[in-house]
Amino acid sequence: MHGCALPRKKCAQNQKLRTNLRITPSRPFHDHNRSLRHLPADLLQTLQQRFGITRRRAANIARDQNAKVTSAINKQRQIETGLFEAEWVHSAGGKHPRASHVEAGRKKLRFDVREGALIDGERIWPGQKPNCRCSSRVILRGLSAFGVSL
Ligand SMILES: [Zn+2]
Repeated sequence: MHGCALPRKKCAQNQKLRTNLRITPSRPFHDHNRSLRHLPADLLQTLQQRFGITRRRAANIARDQNAKVTSAINKQRQIETGLFEAEWVHSAGGKHPRASHVEAGRKKLRFDVREGALIDGERIWPGQKPNCRCSSRVILRGLSAFGVSL
């Protein structure tokens, strides 16, 4: 079953990338659905049963893992496409945003996706830190940057 917000083709591409990255969830899930009801039920159940934690906590962990996978896929996709430059986009979604991430988003901090963004003294990628919902935007340069003149 498809059942996600992305067009089927895009969704299939994401799935292919996951396979290439050897990220193999027990069943397909959709990283762009962040609400509780969209999280894979078996992942929630496993977290609850194996670690004896509450549903809410399990949901947080599942969502966080989802964000990390999304981050890894985006990073890999950009590198494979040869688009190395990106700017940090802070998400207003979280309740407890990191000040440094808010600042990076406000300044549209530029970084090389192969190296990560230098924030708080370390190289990180959007969505990598616990509960970080930040993302990035690819910087597309003019054709002249590729040595093309018209
Ligand atoms: Zn963040």
